[in-house]
Amino acid sequence: MIIPPFSSEPALDFGQASNRTDFQAALRRVEARLGARYPLLIGGEPVDTSESIESYNPAHPHQLVGSHAVADPSHVDRAVQTGWEAFPAWSRTPVEERALLLLRAAEVIRQRRHELGALMVYEVGKPWDEADGEAAEAVDLMEWYARQALGLAARDQMSPWPGEATQFRYIPLGVGGVISPWNFPLALTTGMTTAALVSGNCVILKPAETASTTAAWLVEILHQVGIPRGALSLLSGRGEVAGEALVDHPQIRFVAFTGSKEVGIRIYERAAKVHPGQRWLKRVQLEMGGKNAVVVDETADLDLAALDITRSAFGFQGQKCSAGSRAVVVSSVYDDLLPRVVELTKRIRMGDPVDPDVGLGPVIDGDAEEKILDYLQVGRDEGELLTGGGRAEGEGHFIEPTIFAGVAEGARIATEEIFGPVLAVVRARDFEDGIRIANQTEYGLTGSYFSRDPERIAYAKERLHVGNLYINRRSTGAQMGVHPFGGFNMSGTDTKAGGPDYLLFFLQGQSVAEKL
Ligand code: NAD
Repeated sequence: MIIPPFSSEPALDFGQASNRTDFQAALRRVEARLGARYPLLIGGEPVDTSESIESYNPAHPHQLVGSHAVADPSHVDRAVQTGWEAFPAWSRTPVEERALLLLRAAEVIRQRRHELGALMVYEVGKPWDEADGEAAEAVDLMEWYARQALGLAARDQMSPWPGEATQFRYIPLGVGGVISPWNFPLALTTGMTTAALVSGNCVILKPAETASTTAAWLVEILHQVGIPRGALSLLSGRGEVAGEALVDHPQIRFVAFTGSKEVGIRIYERAAKVHPGQRWLKRVQLEMGGKNAVVVDETADLDLAALDITRSAFGFQGQKCSAGSRAVVVSSVYDDLLPRVVELTKRIRMGDPVDPDVGLGPVIDGDAEEKILDYLQVGRDEGELLTGGGRAEGEGHFIEPTIFAGVAEGARIATEEIFGPVLAVVRARDFEDGIRIANQTEYGLTGSYFSRDPERIAYAKERLHVGNLYINRRSTGAQMGVHPFGGFNMSGTDTKAGGPDYLLFFLQGQSVAEKL
């Protein structure tokens, strides 16, 4: 099978009138489909339940995006059995066929890019460019994993041995659970699910409650292109019920999770327990939160730094694991840089993200709003409020982009993940102190360093302990297949989505030696 080398899906330019018109039309088409009912899909069989999870538009909390059936442990059990029934045939399906299905799914997403983007505008409040970028990322992930699977199947780098025919190959693990977050409901769900599938595993997907509709659309696409229905079950449901039952199930071979640190740690602990009847140690991948620093020294291009601090902190309302939620600025340029960041922040237009000019939409739901508002109170004690600081107008969950300056490096708003549009600014003595401060949280996901000094840049590359380090650019916007993504320390198990080794998590190596 010959496929062209990987190349990233280009970003769409919404400055072009035709792209704007097309996206607008997609928003209208998708709006007409909002409010549908989605059953569980167990081995392709739709299963409805009397209980519902309702996903609402965070900009208009009364607008129902989708109503979803709710899985309980008995559904988990059925889905696991179905997965094992499908596993022998799916795991023996040639990798070329499995890779082809991913490429087909990537093509469908390419064709329906505007529609999927529009759905995320309604379901999670993504501004247009963020929603579109996410659809492109889903395409990239499948294009990348299809090629990686083919490469791994062809790889046998072991030495020959006289008198034996030897082989080292990768085989799939079995049936696993994928538990995904709401903030990248298409891309991250696609990434974990299709990486597992292309490696020959069967998947039970438990998506985040607040983004269940995007996940349902994705599963529909994957089934349509030919992923066997038994190989992919969809269990919408609550994390503490369906998610936990999935993690605890003795016949689950692996869990791929992206979400918060608290839930990740809980999954790690629970998955370690060996239950009666369990014949393996579960493999667990956890991609968790971050408290990412953007360090700026006195040699930096301050306009660029100000722009990228603002974009890193407030892109998608600060609800990215990679968000630059701390700016660490050396003292000598602190008073010069800050007004520029504040000025850019004040220019961000807030509102309903169906409007193409909106740069900052709502936060995901009432719970997030409350949590962020609590942090704004904490921030008032811990720093000087430069802009924002409260709810913004509108019926949705709108919070003003907020900057606190003069924050101590150990303060709560400088060390805890807030997951909202809140930036804490910390003053550093010099660049070394800045890099030290950047390393002072328990996380280690992304980080940026702005400097024009090559020696300092080399120093930062050695010492800034994060999974994704960016020099003179923002901390968000990793390209799959280009910037493998995943963090250190409490940011997770560093499996590096979109990287060269990611599929190995879903595979086990087998050595076969035959005496000649
Ligand atoms: P979350 O932890 O609340 O939920 C994630 C998923 O876990 C959801 O599907 C949820 O239903 C499920 N879940 C909740 N409780 C569970 C339990 N007890 N057992 C099993 N599953 C359970 O996270 P979220 O709010 O959806 O996402 C935001 C978080 O995700 C942030 O912390 C963010 O930094 C992180 N994130 C990390 C990455 C990364 O690549 N490192 C990427 C995106 C998001």
